Amino acid sequence: MDIQSLGRTGHLFTNWATTYSCQPELHFEPETEEQLKQILNTAQIKNKKVKVVGCGHSFSDLVCTTDYMISMKNFDRVISIDKEACKIKVQAGIEVKKLKDEILPQHGLAFSVLGSVSEVSLAGCICTGTHGTGGNYGVLSSYVLGLEIMTANGEIIECSKEKNQEVFLAACCSLGALGVIMSVTFQCEPAFHLHQSQYRDTLNNVLDNLDSHITSSDHFRFVWIPHTDHVVVYKANRISAPICRKDSWFWNYAVGCHMLQFCLLISAFFTSLLIYMNRLFSWLLFSKPKEIVDRGDRVFNLDCLFQQYVMEWAVPREKTAEVLLELKDWIETNQFPAHFPVEVRFVMADNIYLSPAYNMDSCYINILMFRPYNKYVPHETYWNAFQDIMLRAGGRPHWAKDHGVVADQFRKMYPKWTKFCEIAQKVDPHAMFRNPNLERVLGRN
Ligand SMILES: Cc1cc2nc3c(=O)[nH]c(=O)nc-3n(C[C@H](O)[C@H](O)[C@H](O)COP(=O)(O)OP(=O)(O)OC[C@H]3O[C@@H](n4cnc5c(N)ncnc54)[C@H](O)[C@@H]3O)c2cc1C
Repeated sequence: MDIQSLGRTGHLFTNWATTYSCQPELHFEPETEEQLKQILNTAQIKNKKVKVVGCGHSFSDLVCTTDYMISMKNFDRVISIDKEACKIKVQAGIEVKKLKDEILPQHGLAFSVLGSVSEVSLAGCICTGTHGTGGNYGVLSSYVLGLEIMTANGEIIECSKEKNQEVFLAACCSLGALGVIMSVTFQCEPAFHLHQSQYRDTLNNVLDNLDSHITSSDHFRFVWIPHTDHVVVYKANRISAPICRKDSWFWNYAVGCHMLQFCLLISAFFTSLLIYMNRLFSWLLFSKPKEIVDRGDRVFNLDCLFQQYVMEWAVPREKTAEVLLELKDWIETNQFPAHFPVEVRFVMADNIYLSPAYNMDSCYINILMFRPYNKYVPHETYWNAFQDIMLRAGGRPHWAKDHGVVADQFRKMYPKWTKFCEIAQKVDPHAMFRNPNLERVLGRN
């Protein structure tokens, strides 16, 4: 088949947050391995760059290209399920939502942990080190048991904990730099319910008792509301009890988000209002404690209803109090109209070469500035201050979110950086899978 008939011109890609867009020369949605191979062969002959896209949920320019863009949305089938061992093998473009809502429940299985949204591809999550929260739970990549990857020359490499181990540890968080991930074998667990309690506390109280919070619940996180001393604590544990979830008709999440969007728009013109708004919302939305029991995946996920700029870093867990108090001090000293929430989550260390949690029990801190009605909101000074604090504390940025870190700095952050680059050079010698983002963060090969 002719490559022109496989690809489409004029496709405009925009990421979920609508902060980055690009127009690839050709956009492909291959349906077979043979078609994918043909696209890569043509790209090699014509010296084109190739970028694979999952669901476009990364907040940065991670998937932007002006050459060839390949969507893996048609690679969404289940290859095999081993119910006894709680393992699934799937094509890599499959959406986490389809897995968690349709496929896994049919087999009595579930993800052990998830990020806040599931409208994302499994491969996209793995490539960026997507994480949820829980002191004994790693990034999603740490549940990967095996991968099949098509490299630039159309060859398929199989790798796992047992086979091609170094390639495996590089590929489990690889930003798409090694090739096209075709299939993923993933460790799940028997389906479970979570009991989550939510209550308001003070920041100092939570920081003083951090270790006991992390160890006394499966999935602990908290959000701090800037310009207040308040945090909202969420603690979730596995439980065998029926589902019990009551959402109030008025103060439910969706209504709250729409009200928030309107108020944020007003506060964009009168920034000093923001401080009072945060206090008001802290009281309106979070002052009442709440208990729910629900399916695990429903407790992990949130409805993210409107666009935002986002920056997130992982720091060693023992630095949590130091960096949060420094951030609070900076916001208050500079009277910066920081939006809420600042989300704080905990992730277990792993051995994946480019995982932000590599060899580091981590605290992830996520700051955001909403973009009410898609409006630009100044955030750059806040971003720079936060990045400086996190760099000083030995942090590593989330790959899918905003950051200003470049290859020379990453080299010092990641002990296995050189090993990763050697593997990338071997499997992609002509840097076919590099786009401007990867040239910045990984170098040009
Ligand atoms: C509302 C919202 C909430 C979020 N919440 C969280 C959260 O709680 N925790 C968290 O850690 N992150 C979170 N994220 C970030 C998100 O998990 C990551 O951006 C993830 O990568 C999105 O998956 P995707 O399918 O959209 O990937 P894309 O953004 O499309 O791609 C991400 C990377 O994966 C590569 N890639 C995708 N598929 C393949 C493939 N088959 N082969 C090779 N490379 C591939 C791409 O080239 C790119 O480098 C959130 C994002 C949004 C928008």
